[in-house]
Amino acid sequence: MTRQRHKKKVHVSNEQIENSARNHLKDSVYFEVLTIECFNLNPNHLYTITDKHVAYAADQAGGKISDGVMRAFEDTEGKGMCGHKGCDLRIDAHHHDRVLMLRLKQDVPNKEAAREIMRIKPLLEKNNVEGTGFVSDNFKILPMNEND
Ligand SMILES: [Zn+2]
Repeated sequence: MTRQRHKKKVHVSNEQIENSARNHLKDSVYFEVLTIECFNLNPNHLYTITDKHVAYAADQAGGKISDGVMRAFEDTEGKGMCGHKGCDLRIDAHHHDRVLMLRLKQDVPNKEAAREIMRIKPLLEKNNVEGTGFVSDNFKILPMNEND
């Protein structure tokens, strides 16, 4: 039996991106990878999947729910199928930015922060993650000084 090649764009989940970023920064003394968060939601909610989406995906796509499958479902229905109450927008009319949140483990010199971010930048760009955000209770990214 030969394996079939799929031309379809592979859907990469936030969890897969987080795990890949974790792998890239596993030896980082400065950052711990947390999660991908969504900002700037427009409209004010994420596209909401319902049991109808799940049923369509089970019938038509082997249970796999991707953006493409949901688009095909909406084409079949001839309208937006977002499950958010009162929303009739199609999936492509839902927009948000995704940001990978990193926790600071200690104060991070600006130059080191830039170097570490560069290690995951290609991964983020490839997957349309807009950038990184930093979480810390006690630490900060230190500004550059003339010795840097
Ligand atoms: Zn909606």
